[in-house]
Amino acid sequence: MSNCIFCKIVKKEIPSKVIFENEDLLAFNDVNAQAPIHILLIPKIHRGSLLDFREGEDDPLMVRMFAAIVQIAQLKGIDATGFRLVANTGHDGGQTVSHLHFHLLGGRRMNWPPG
Ligand code: 5GP
Ligand code: ZN
Repeated sequence: MSNCIFCKIVKKEIPSKVIFENEDLLAFNDVNAQAPIHILLIPKIHRGSLLDFREGEDDPLMVRMFAAIVQIAQLKGIDATGFRLVANTGHDGGQTVSHLHFHLLGGRRMNWPPG
């Protein structure tokens, strides 16, 4: 997607602080951090949201995303203390960037219910 900011981050046309990268995934610091650790994990391929997840074709990708979350949590040292994983989806979910992403939040105690 040529006008997608996360696709531009994948192509390094927009700079980001990369935390983790492999062939099909990229994780980088959120520019507007809501916690001491606030990382976004995205697939390099464009998917608008969880609603665009292609069951079957995308199954291996989604498994790798969850594995990457665990690796990043360990890398950042928040696996023991815990973290929150968020996938804002659509208008009511508060999604502002239409490229599937997981927020990994940690380094402080999270509140519930969320705002
Ligand atoms: P959403 O609101 O869609 O769940 O999350 C989008 C996130 O992307 C927001 O937390 C926002 O701060 C982050 N974001 C938006 N533009 C950029 C950018 O250019 N660089 C980085 N690193 N994060 C961004
Ligand atoms: Zn995109």
